[in-house]
Amino acid sequence: MPNETLPLPLPPSLWVATARPAPATPPLDGSRHADVVIVGAGFSGLAAALHLAESGASVVVLDAGEPGWGASGRNGGQVIAGLKWDPDELVAMFGIEAGEHLVRVAGAAPDAVFDLVERHGIDCEARRCGWIQPTFAEADNALAARRVEQWQRRGAPVSLLDREAACRLVGSPIYRGGWIDRRAGSLQPLSYARGLARAAQGAGALVCANSRVVGLAHDRGRWKVRTAHGAAVSADNVLLATNGYSDGLWPRLRQSVIAANSFQVATERLPDALRRTVLPGGQVASDTRKLLLYYRADHDGRLIMGGRGPFREPTGPADYRHLESVIGLVFPQLKGTRCEFHWSGRVALTRDHLPHVHRPAPGLTLFLGYNGRGVAMATMLGTMVAANLAAPDGHPLPLAVTGIRPIPLHSLHRIYATAILQMYRLSDHLAVR
Ligand SMILES: Cc1cc2nc3c(=O)[nH]c(=O)nc-3n(C[C@H](O)[C@H](O)[C@H](O)COP(=O)(O)OP(=O)(O)OC[C@H]3O[C@@H](n4cnc5c(N)ncnc54)[C@H](O)[C@@H]3O)c2cc1C
Repeated sequence: MPNETLPLPLPPSLWVATARPAPATPPLDGSRHADVVIVGAGFSGLAAALHLAESGASVVVLDAGEPGWGASGRNGGQVIAGLKWDPDELVAMFGIEAGEHLVRVAGAAPDAVFDLVERHGIDCEARRCGWIQPTFAEADNALAARRVEQWQRRGAPVSLLDREAACRLVGSPIYRGGWIDRRAGSLQPLSYARGLARAAQGAGALVCANSRVVGLAHDRGRWKVRTAHGAAVSADNVLLATNGYSDGLWPRLRQSVIAANSFQVATERLPDALRRTVLPGGQVASDTRKLLLYYRADHDGRLIMGGRGPFREPTGPADYRHLESVIGLVFPQLKGTRCEFHWSGRVALTRDHLPHVHRPAPGLTLFLGYNGRGVAMATMLGTMVAANLAAPDGHPLPLAVTGIRPIPLHSLHRIYATAILQMYRLSDHLAVR
């Protein structure tokens, strides 16, 4: 059993090595009162904290690690619009009004990020350079055409790419076509998380690192939030924004998602001539494989390649070999390039591939489940949950509040997630034979 009172350092990654310095966030001390306590200082919790503090609420944010310690400081930094479901699918699921509202919110999520970056002067290498989804198999071109048609019908700046254009824009010979979404872009995720924390502090929020919450009790209309090192806050409202790092704090929450590891490697700095052959327009990309690959360059000219690996936490270099070798398959010109950084983080997958908002008790809101697409959506949902808390009628949530539904046989999730990974691997293999 790990000692929950010890500081939880950020594991090494490209982002840790190149991020802007962290703001001072000493652990919570003593006992105090706040209007809102937020557990989790990732994009979800920090965006909510910033909005609430700007609206005049007193806010305390508590993280077991530090701002950006979870997926928010470890991801690919791809700021992507939309959810896993396509716009027409969302309308079919939720009806025209609620479905189109959700589509608008998810479509505008990159705006939420780039607006915050600009408004607070967050120094995080943010660039609105576009996102490419190149198609891995010929059959995926119909999918790309459908996506482009559905977003264009709603006025989004997207277009279809033929094989020649996709291969040229990506800098790879392996793709069959694709599409580009100009709402999207990239940033340095840990610098963004730290910038959000600094902005929230500037608006008056108290952000506390190394403050794992171990107790949450409701007593006479107030929440009492207790940390592992014995400090406490009482509050009228609590937001739980712990996503793929949810522990046992609230019953059944951890069992409502599959916390799967996603892996990344970053090469050494590429020589300029080689750098110009890889995503020469500066876009970010994730392809249509079932076990998708996502990749981009950083501001210093390294290629970052991400994808699924073993389900468990990585135990050594062997767990990253498949990603290192895939670099030469997607970009033959980079074959043999050394990888300098290796890291992983947890995404929260839900059964319906949608984020979830739960209100299991008065004054308690839990929100999570971005299914690997949370840079933009966690920022957006955090802001919307906060706005809804302050003024529920004027700020409807984009998703209905639902009950927490544990995934059946959750304790066996590693086994069936591993089986699904194998099935996807086989399906990707067969798709291009
Ligand atoms: C490797 C990787 C690559 C990704 N790439 C992309 C991408 O390119 N584009 C994209 O859109 N999305 C991507 N994602 C997904 C995206 O990073 C997440 O959806 C998003 O960061 C979720 O933010 P969050 O604030 O909800 O959760 P997190 O950032 O995971 O934050 C949760 C926080 O809760 C804290 N916590 C948990 N329990 C407690 C407790 N009891 N007490 C106190 N604190 C607690 C943790 O310490 C953690 O800091 C990626 C994810 C990973 C892991």
